[in-house]
Amino acid sequence: MDTPYVFNIQKFSVHDGDGIRTSIFFKGCPLSCIWCHNPESQRYQKELMLFHDRCTACGACVKRCPTGANAITDGKLVMDREKCTACGVCTDWCLQNAREIAGKEYTIQELVKEADKDRMFYEDSGGGITLSGGEVMCQNMDYIEKLCRVLYNKGYSVNIDTCGYAPYENFKRILPYVDTFLYDIKALDPEVHKHFIGVDNELILENLKKLSADGATINIRIPTIEGVNATEEFMNGVIDFLQTNQISVKQVNLLPYHNTGMHKYRKLDRPYEEDILKVPDKARMELFKDIFMKHGFSNTKIGG
Ligand code: SF4
Ligand code: SF4
Repeated sequence: MDTPYVFNIQKFSVHDGDGIRTSIFFKGCPLSCIWCHNPESQRYQKELMLFHDRCTACGACVKRCPTGANAITDGKLVMDREKCTACGVCTDWCLQNAREIAGKEYTIQELVKEADKDRMFYEDSGGGITLSGGEVMCQNMDYIEKLCRVLYNKGYSVNIDTCGYAPYENFKRILPYVDTFLYDIKALDPEVHKHFIGVDNELILENLKKLSADGATINIRIPTIEGVNATEEFMNGVIDFLQTNQISVKQVNLLPYHNTGMHKYRKLDRPYEEDILKVPDKARMELFKDIFMKHGFSNTKIGG
């Protein structure tokens, strides 16, 4: 069984479903949202993250790298990412801690052990474990199904944070063990979806209908971004879709875009579309919340 890579385990998370939760983030996603605040989550492979501002160009990584991916040119470190295999050797030799590997394998037992550490907090707060990403539904589903089953059998609430872009069969497999699906809707127009996210949205919307019909508990999450979808027209469109298809919704979460992930693009030497993306102001977010409330979605929140 291939073990998926985890790039973060977030303790005491209060934005990924009810109560205090442990959120486990799996690496790899079929989407490529241009605003993604975790760009290290997008590729399935391990990657080197380089903190350029910490680098003193000492050259230790140049000497130790087995593939010759690093060089000092004109007193500066230059990296050839094509040559980097993310072996991690250089991270042991960089005294400035300027190098980190994103992506680590955990056995199911190791993840369950991490979750066990905070059992007391779940019990007191009505929380549990949230599997997120990247995209958890596009990982090795033998592994994910087993992880969900083990957590469920221990009495934990398991939430799945998903973009919805995966074969429905994958959802079916874990349905019996899942408390709540945190399900993203980012764009309704297929062309807009393709433009900003890289893929068509038909599968996402179809899976949402099927999940609802199969009795899943669903929180709808809407990353709200000026320049992409922060319009009354879009919010009304989502409401129309949910009502027309009788999607059973426990909660709507309007998630205002923030650009705090911008620095991570630099660490991966990738460009970031900062000119297109704008943070919606508070009044706009309140307006969108009111629109949902007026249409009967009384459990609508700004934030997770
Ligand atoms: S070892 Fe660290 S500080 Fe030295 S050149 Fe490499 S990244 Fe920079
Ligand atoms: S992770 Fe490995 S291959 Fe990549 S730069 Fe460091 S030592 Fe070289």
